[in-house]
Amino acid sequence: MNMMDNSVRDTVILGSGCSGLTAAIYAARANLKPLVIEGHEPGGQLSLTTLVENFPGFPDGIQGPDLINSIRKQAARFGADFMTGHLVKADLTQRPFQLDFGGSKTVAARTLIIASGASARWLGLPNEQALIGHGVSSCATCDGFFFKDKPITVIGGGDSAMEEALFLTRFATRVTVIHRRDHFRASKIMLDRARKHEKIEFMTDTVVDDVYDVSKKDVTGLKLRNLKTGKAWDFPTSALFLGIGHEPNAKMFTGQLDMDDDGYLKTRDFVMTRVPGVFACGDVQDRRYRQAITAAGSGCAAAMEAEKFLEENA
Ligand code: NAP
Repeated sequence: MNMMDNSVRDTVILGSGCSGLTAAIYAARANLKPLVIEGHEPGGQLSLTTLVENFPGFPDGIQGPDLINSIRKQAARFGADFMTGHLVKADLTQRPFQLDFGGSKTVAARTLIIASGASARWLGLPNEQALIGHGVSSCATCDGFFFKDKPITVIGGGDSAMEEALFLTRFATRVTVIHRRDHFRASKIMLDRARKHEKIEFMTDTVVDDVYDVSKKDVTGLKLRNLKTGKAWDFPTSALFLGIGHEPNAKMFTGQLDMDDDGYLKTRDFVMTRVPGVFACGDVQDRRYRQAITAAGSGCAAAMEAEKFLEENA
């Protein structure tokens, strides 16, 4: 599509993950000719995972990238347009909304669906990215099942790490929670539950310096270091799950839309932001469920609300 397109779009969808693309299917089928903006993680978190076994309709599971590609094709078939871009600035005070993608790329939109997701935090280890989907994961619900009867390691000291560790006890022989301090951010109840679990052990004041073994395309162990003693050692494990939090991709709306303390967009009635005509769906506004199917559901709702808004404000 022409990046310099000066026409006003009925609906612009920011994000091409499960939520944004589902919104695109619904908006395209309502003849809104949506423009989907694909950012720096096209396809969202599904494109980073392997087998998805909990998305309804696929009794044998489906690879995350295949699922997201199918949803994208479905949106394109009904006439959704796609543009690669990174939103630098949005002006939601004027109508149509002005979206600035830098380098004089601007788009005007009557309705805006924000489906920009949340990005998992990674540790930044030398071998980490190469082993994502091969034992390194940020989603216990998605990938835990693959490590049945194997030792698993979880990083983090917050509620996410405790929740992941507890969930992973269903599969693992042992779950080791590694935390960089000896104080935990996790709520007392979650921490107590994890501490009491016979399969969970804790290693505190410890950081991961790297993950092995890229040559085997599989996680075989971690290089650990105790921050108090400086001691470093190799620790065998079959999987590394990161529970160190997510960052909602909503910073560009600071001051214009309501956010909670961690930067998630606040919505009412499922997908409504405080600006009429601006809707938010998926992980950028959902810190609780964060599932592909719930993201798809809210994407559908956002598109239906956009259609209704355009009808009422024609
Ligand atoms: P969080 O509370 O911010 O905790 C992140 C944890 O990861 C912290 O322990 C932090 O260590 C650690 N961490 C961050 N960056 C790290 C790094 N580079 N290396 C090593 N460790 C690192 O995030 P969260 O656990 O995702 O929770 C976010 C919010 O969602 C919280 O309000 C939480 O209560 C809520 N939540 C609730 C539930 C539930 O109730 N079931 C489940 C999940 C999340 P430090 O402590 O040293 O900073």
